[in-house]
Amino acid sequence: MIEISPDSDFSIHNIPFGIYSIDGGKKHVAIAYGDYILDCYILSKLGLFDSIDIDGEVFAKPFLNDFIGLGKSVTNRVRSDIQAFLLDDDNVIWEAQNQFLFHQNKVTLHLPIQIGDYTDFYSSESHARNVGTMFRDPSNPLLPNWKHLPVAYHGRASSIFVSGTNFRRPLGQIKDLDQEGPRFGPTRKLDFELEMAAVIGKKSEWQEPISVDDAMDYVFGYVLFNDWSARDIQQWETAPLGPFLGKNFFSSISPWVVTTEALAPFQIKSKVQDPPPLPYLQEKDGFQYDVDLTVHFRTKEGQSKLICQSNFSNLYWTVAQQIAHHTVNGCNLNVGDLLASGTISGDREGSFGSLLEITWSGNNPILFEDGNTRTFVEDGDSIMMSGYGEQAGKRIGFGNLVNTVLE
Ligand code: MN
Repeated sequence: MIEISPDSDFSIHNIPFGIYSIDGGKKHVAIAYGDYILDCYILSKLGLFDSIDIDGEVFAKPFLNDFIGLGKSVTNRVRSDIQAFLLDDDNVIWEAQNQFLFHQNKVTLHLPIQIGDYTDFYSSESHARNVGTMFRDPSNPLLPNWKHLPVAYHGRASSIFVSGTNFRRPLGQIKDLDQEGPRFGPTRKLDFELEMAAVIGKKSEWQEPISVDDAMDYVFGYVLFNDWSARDIQQWETAPLGPFLGKNFFSSISPWVVTTEALAPFQIKSKVQDPPPLPYLQEKDGFQYDVDLTVHFRTKEGQSKLICQSNFSNLYWTVAQQIAHHTVNGCNLNVGDLLASGTISGDREGSFGSLLEITWSGNNPILFEDGNTRTFVEDGDSIMMSGYGEQAGKRIGFGNLVNTVLE
């Protein structure tokens, strides 16, 4: 029996999927359990999945896409067989545990998904109101379309990397307020965005929209998502076509994909939408997930501070509505696409999901215990995001998503 801490994100109720390697070896599919990972490829070789119609080679791939593409009827069986195995001390497969069981400290976790297309929504009303108040019209912060459709832009998949990836401060065009023209240089307004991303688990056909009530069949699971942003570059470039180089230099996801089945106990009814959306966006049983989200800011001087406590449910639009809207014109989705929520801000101070909002565009610096302050992220600083739900002693979490800006 593997002992795991009761406050582990990776309880028996979770069993998230990821990609790992050890000692520079081949990448395999793995699951997380407590502080450990279990290698699904070796488990399949040892016969754990013999009662499932599955080719074990699907676990010897560098990404989860092929496994996820088998569909929930197969992936759910794999997950439940692993849960049963973890509770079955008498299973002879345990005798070979040195082949498939490793401490997380000993392994490297990789980007779990080969991301085809990535879309970033803008679905938290508080975030949209805060941004609209700062940059447009405080008396009318939401644009007229905001409550009628889940606003989004198409992002860039090539620069999405896994937690632990560190990165250089991006360069770009910046237009200072007191200057007539732009200058070129490093961003001075490097920011994070606290988001969750849905991993698409089922392909849809071109010109065949997904109905809002079928949409959740297309979601395999979720990861934490940090949509790193350069606010000064973004502000100058965005008109009229939207985010570009202020966004696509880097985004990051947590290494373990938590399934919709694991998250099912944390479903809560979605907020009433007023005005009601058009019929194709009206859901029978719309829900969000009650998952607490936090952001810690760690300065290069070594000070750490909790700067955001939000919740996955702080969203106006549901993932089902996002999917229905995304495909209503005939646009198709593929296994491995990523649909990010947009910055998840709550409606009170302390729950804002970006520094833009927390420091109100740099006007209210964050004070650290050693007397240092920050308005945006400096070189050498780290941002860590975490998320978990807990109910009746059952804890399901995402682990941590950490990135450091190189000095
Ligand atoms: Mn974003």
